[in-house]
Amino acid sequence: MTQLSQAILDRFQVRKTQKQKDAFITLLKEHFPELSIQKGGFAKSRNLILGDVSQAKIVLSAHYDTCAKLPFPNFIAPKNLLLSILYSILIALPVVAVMFIISYLLNWLTQNFWVNYGVCVGICLVMIYLMLAGPANNHTANDNTSGVIALCELYSALTAEERTKVAAVFFDNEELGLLGSALFRKQYRKEIKDKLLINLDCVSDGDHFLVAVNKAARQHYYVQIKNAFTSTDEKQILLEKAERVYYPSDQANFPMSIAVAALKHKKLLGYYMDRIHTKRDIIFDEKNISFLTNALHKLIQLL
Ligand SMILES: [Zn+2]
Repeated sequence: MTQLSQAILDRFQVRKTQKQKDAFITLLKEHFPELSIQKGGFAKSRNLILGDVSQAKIVLSAHYDTCAKLPFPNFIAPKNLLLSILYSILIALPVVAVMFIISYLLNWLTQNFWVNYGVCVGICLVMIYLMLAGPANNHTANDNTSGVIALCELYSALTAEERTKVAAVFFDNEELGLLGSALFRKQYRKEIKDKLLINLDCVSDGDHFLVAVNKAARQHYYVQIKNAFTSTDEKQILLEKAERVYYPSDQANFPMSIAVAALKHKKLLGYYMDRIHTKRDIIFDEKNISFLTNALHKLIQLL
């Protein structure tokens, strides 16, 4: 890995406050002086852009913002929507039970509907606030330091000529609801109408790479994608139709897109990720980064 990648992994994993993001942007600018910043939108997002979006054939992206820490693992099984929903219900059950008890006690104590209602709505709002704006998760090896580093490694490896084909974008505020990528789409609507975007989110924990390709991307680039992303003995490619998998990330904002994520596999569970948004998000498999940057480099050469 480059010095820059090692620095990000060692010292810049938390990028949640304005100050933490400032420090990360300064570091990136030291290595890529040409970096430009797109500012704006509801949460004053700052997207970081390398390359010329209007000239590029392909846009590669990864969100750099950090999520709030959750007390429970954020389990996702992209190929098994039912399991993902069942897990959410399971997580919600204790919360619903606690709310029910509080509501029952308040009713008994005050016998006032509005007090009861106000407290319950208040608790819900505080919980939503904590999930979005609560204390930062201090460990983000996979989500999404891995995507950021993969993008830096790839961009560093490209020749000057290859760079003319590529724009690399580090999106802000994905965790608040894909806000940075929405801002990017708004400004570059025309330029990205028929441009391939590949989004890297959580790519360092698991030997199985989900490559979820939407319809427009399949129509234009299926052969190149298939030739660039090939399995090895160690790393397996799961080439899927985006409509058939559930993977919420920034690619959802773009008309021609591919989502890339690393998954683990167990016989009973199928393909899944289970550590992100918690203090257990510490798995950083460097082999994943080199596998992915090689595949993307190959794809760029094929375009
Ligand atoms: Zn993420």
